[in-house]
Amino acid sequence: MKVVIVGNGIAGNQVAFSIRKRCQDTDICIVSAENVPEYDPCSLPYFLGGDCEERSVFRKMADDYTNHRIQLMVNSKVASISPDVKTIVTENGSRISYDKLVLAHGGDLFIPPIEASATRAYSAASSSMRRSSCVLTTEPVRW
Ligand SMILES: Cc1cc2nc3c(=O)[nH]c(=O)nc-3n(C[C@H](O)[C@H](O)[C@H](O)COP(=O)(O)OP(=O)(O)OC[C@H]3O[C@@H](n4cnc5c(N)ncnc54)[C@H](O)[C@@H]3O)c2cc1C
Repeated sequence: MKVVIVGNGIAGNQVAFSIRKRCQDTDICIVSAENVPEYDPCSLPYFLGGDCEERSVFRKMADDYTNHRIQLMVNSKVASISPDVKTIVTENGSRISYDKLVLAHGGDLFIPPIEASATRAYSAASSSMRRSSCVLTTEPVRW
């Protein structure tokens, strides 16, 4: 059984290391668009602000993958998936087959295309977002 995981963030790593903990004979491969081991995105502002050291940003080292027999393919952005033949292809042309595929590629932030975004209705929506600590926009909004 070969499990291929797209994305080397917290979700992808959690899947990979959880499978390894429970199953020793599964081939596990993480395919990552980035070129580093797992890091904690939440700590980046603290690192950039000089409030924490680089080593505390990283949640894994390269050895962690080797020691757990997890293949980490860096610089390998997945460009297409062919579920009929259970294969993915990366932008640099690598073709990887799988038995099970896990998509853990995160999400993109965007500002919703809400017309008249400074109106009261938008403020109400933003207010509920603010309560859950989300920053929706850099535009000034009256609460
Ligand atoms: C500055 C900052 C502060 C945050 N603070 C908090 C907080 O306080 N609390 C909280 O709960 N959350 C916080 N978050 C959000 C949290 O970091 C994310 O929810 C979490 O990292 C999501 O993890 P993930 O593994 O799902 O996705 P991601 O961390 O986005 O990882 C996805 C990975 O997939 C890779 N990828 C994407 N597309 C492809 C592709 N086609 N092929 C190969 N690889 C691909 C990406 O390069 C990335 O490495 C914060 C985020 C940031 C940036």
